[in-house]
Amino acid sequence: MKKVVKFGGSSLASAEQFKKVGEIIHADQERKFVVPSAPGKRDPDDTKVTDMLYACYALAEEGKDFKAQLQAIKDRYQEIIDGLKLDISLEDEFKVIEKNFKEKAGDNYAASRGEYLNGIIMAAYLGFEFVDAAEVILFDQNGEFDSETTNTKLKERLAGMEAAVIPGFYGACEDGRVKTFSRGGSDITGSIVARAIKANVYENWTDVSGILIADPHIIYKPEGIETVTYKELRELSYMGFNVLHEDAIFPVRREGIPINIRNTNAPEDNGTWIVESTCQKPKYVITGIAGKKGFCAVNIDKDMMNAEIGFGRKVLQAFEENGISFEHVPSGIDTMTVFVHQDEFMHKEQQVVSGIHRLAEPDRIEIEADLALIAVVGRGMKSTRGTAGRIFSALAHSNVNVKMIDQGSSELNIIIGVANSDFETAIKAIYDIFVQIRI
Ligand code: ASP
Repeated sequence: MKKVVKFGGSSLASAEQFKKVGEIIHADQERKFVVPSAPGKRDPDDTKVTDMLYACYALAEEGKDFKAQLQAIKDRYQEIIDGLKLDISLEDEFKVIEKNFKEKAGDNYAASRGEYLNGIIMAAYLGFEFVDAAEVILFDQNGEFDSETTNTKLKERLAGMEAAVIPGFYGACEDGRVKTFSRGGSDITGSIVARAIKANVYENWTDVSGILIADPHIIYKPEGIETVTYKELRELSYMGFNVLHEDAIFPVRREGIPINIRNTNAPEDNGTWIVESTCQKPKYVITGIAGKKGFCAVNIDKDMMNAEIGFGRKVLQAFEENGISFEHVPSGIDTMTVFVHQDEFMHKEQQVVSGIHRLAEPDRIEIEADLALIAVVGRGMKSTRGTAGRIFSALAHSNVNVKMIDQGSSELNIIIGVANSDFETAIKAIYDIFVQIRI
């Protein structure tokens, strides 16, 4: 039985945090494959090493002096090395980095050094072998992640290895150029490694005890989610849940490996399990509530729309021609509404409207701005009657006017459109009715 353990930046921000990580790894002998992020923030006003590297490299690229900035990064690592009383020096590594910065090795290379150096420290601290991600995480010449070649290469490299540290976030293209994933990408590396070694679980250690039912900025101390399915998480992430990098799901999902989100600062907590499927009944009918503000509704009216074949396609074509993606399309007999992101739509609004007139010849188009969408997600909704009824009576009691309702046929989620100004009230009302008031 093998576990892959990935630690996020806040778990590795200082020597103190490193020590907690060491204890966690030593507490379970199955934790043998470790994927570290770069040191994150030590306190809310601190700067992540990744951001320091980007800023430092920006100076290098402009041909400006970046010595002080590089020294500040060096100091962050030295503080960790000293705090752990390790007998290693990153002096030579920093000489190479300085030279490569001067030679304009690229911002991907620059950012990747955060994980690379932290990986070297982590390997020395644990006495595990260090495997440079540039050798095993591979991208094709177009910069696209090459999952199959990576899987083969990684399997070969890790075969027979007892324990290893593989830095997160980066890999390399065929020509050797270092390439990073998008921000937060160490989550993806962890998942890739878990797939390659066929781990029995992928533990993702962060600074919260799992995924919360709702946003703690809106709900005071919301309860955590014990188990969530990949599908539910996908719905919640899309609507703003920000726990795991979106692309981290795919490699483990295809192997049926569950993800366990854990808290480095509270290792005794069970955290959240992300699984393919489960017979475990969720504690509440709903698993989570997520949402986003900043949508626009484009309402299109045309008498006898219901009888006109191709009307929907023509309307959506006007959005497509202007490069605008749509979120939801609820429709009535003679009306159709298209929900779009306001900031994207704003600049193209008139082109889209004239496009719809040209292509679909509607009677009327009305645009409503400043709307929010809320997703109420739960695998438990399928087998429970009255969920929608409870949601809408809770919203009515809180004086929230519902502008749109959309329930997917999977009965996994209900999407509700409200005014931006009602967003927080609506989320509180839904949370209270399902989680606070237990029926
Ligand atoms: N260090 C990178 C970032 O700050 C990647 C990661 O932490 O996953 O985005």
